[in-house]
Amino acid sequence: RTRTRFAPSPTGFIHLGNIRSALYPWAFARSTGGDFVLRIEDTDLERSSQAAVDVIIEGMAWLGLDHDEGPFYQMQRMDRYKEVLAELVAAGHVYPCYMSMAELDALRERQTAAKEKPRYDGTWRPVEGKVLPPIPEGVAPVLRFKNPQSGSVVWEDKVKGRIEISNDELDDLVIARPDGTPTYNFCVVVDDMDMAITHVIRGDDHVNNTPRQINIFKALGKDHPVYAHLPTVLNEQGEKMSKRNGAKPVTQYRDEGYLPDAMVNYLARLGWSHGDDEIFSREQFLQWFNLDHLGKSAAQFDEAKLRWVNAQHIKTTADEVLAPLVQTQLQKRGITADERLVGICALFKDRCDTTVALADWAAVFYADVTPSEAERAQHVTEAVKPALALLSEKLGVCVWDKAGIAAAIKEVLTACSLKMPHLAMPVRVLVAGTAHTPSVDAMLSLFDRQKVLQRLQQS
Ligand code: GLU
Repeated sequence: RTRTRFAPSPTGFIHLGNIRSALYPWAFARSTGGDFVLRIEDTDLERSSQAAVDVIIEGMAWLGLDHDEGPFYQMQRMDRYKEVLAELVAAGHVYPCYMSMAELDALRERQTAAKEKPRYDGTWRPVEGKVLPPIPEGVAPVLRFKNPQSGSVVWEDKVKGRIEISNDELDDLVIARPDGTPTYNFCVVVDDMDMAITHVIRGDDHVNNTPRQINIFKALGKDHPVYAHLPTVLNEQGEKMSKRNGAKPVTQYRDEGYLPDAMVNYLARLGWSHGDDEIFSREQFLQWFNLDHLGKSAAQFDEAKLRWVNAQHIKTTADEVLAPLVQTQLQKRGITADERLVGICALFKDRCDTTVALADWAAVFYADVTPSEAERAQHVTEAVKPALALLSEKLGVCVWDKAGIAAAIKEVLTACSLKMPHLAMPVRVLVAGTAHTPSVDAMLSLFDRQKVLQRLQQS
C-alpha cells in the first residue's frame, strides 16, 4: 500500500509553490488507493506560527487535498525522537562531540582558505586505537551521526534519475543539540519510518538532505522510501517563489474567485503533464497521474494562464455549484442574492474568469447601478426616448419571462421602426449600467420587473 505525506514547515503562509508539493503526493496516494499523511514540521519555534498552520489546513481543505492521517506535529513527537536516538546511541551509531563554536569556525576558516569544502573533520569520532582529546569541563556535547566513511549513497530518484553521492562528501551530521533536542534531518527520518511512508515527494531544495537521511535509515536497519524531488516553482520574475518576493497565500486565490478544481488543474500542470492536455477535471487528473511524467525543469508561475484555466472551469461548472460561491463573494459587499442567482450564473459565466467577476455582474441585479455618462450620452438619445417610454408600458404588462419580454421588445421595434441595437443598447445602459451585456430579453427576465421599469424611467 502506498503511503505519501506532505510535511510543510509552518513558517510563513503557504503559497502555490509549496502547495504543489502537497498536490502530487496527495494525487499519488489517491490514484494508487494509498494513504496521504499530513505532518506539520514545527520544530523551528521562532519562525513557526499557528496562523501559518491554519492557512495550510484551510488551503488544503479548500483545494480538496484531504488527508487520511494527521495532522501530526513534530513538536508533539519529541519523546519518540529521543527514544530512537537512544537506540542509535546504544547501537554505536552516534558519538558526542565537544567541539566549540569557536573551534568549528576556525576549522571552517582553515578549510575555506585551503579551498576545501567546509566539513566537520571527525575530531571526536571514536576510532579504534585513536586517542580522543580530553573532554572539556562544563561543555554539553552535540551528538553526531557516524556517517559511513566509504562507499556511496545511491538512489533512483523518480524525477532526477539515478543519484550517487560518495560518502566522502558527507560529514558526521549533528543529530542532537547540546540540550538533547533532535535536529531536522533526524526527525524527518523517524517520522517517515514511523509513518511507513513509501514515497517521499518533495521539493528539490531537500535533495542534499536525502543521502544523509538514507544513511540514517540504514543505521536504523530500515529500507528508505522512494524519493521524487520536484523542481522549483519560479515566480513571474523568474525567482524562486517565496513569500518574501510577493507570493500570495493559497487562500487568497479562493478570496479572489478561483475555483478549487481550476487551481488543482493549474498546479497539476505546473510540473507534470499528460500529453498536451491543458484543461482537465480532478477525476481525470487522478486517473492520469503518475510519477513518470513529472517535469525535470523548473516551472514558472503565470497568473494570466491561471486566470484562463479558471475561466475554462467556470464555463463547465454547474450553475448550482457556482451560485453559492458567487453568493460568498456577494456577501462581502453586503448583498444577499436569491434563487435568481443560478440563472445569472448561467447567463454570465461565459464572460467571467473568476467568481468575483460573476459577482460583479450579479451585483447589477441586486444593488444600484450608475451608467457611465459616456455610454448614456451615446445610446440614450432624445430620438430613442419615445421608444423607451413605449417599451416601459409594454414591459409593465407583458408576461415576465424571456419570450414575453422578447415579444414586447419586438412590438416596440415595429411600432417605432427601429432596429434591435437602437433599442437594446439604451436598455442595457439604463438597466445594467453598461452596453456590454448578454441578450437583453434573457437578461431582463432575470431582473425584478419593477427594478427594470424604475431604471428605464431614469432615461
Ligand atoms: N518541512 C520541509 C519544508 O517545508 C519539507 C520536508 C520534507 O518534505 O521532507 O520544506
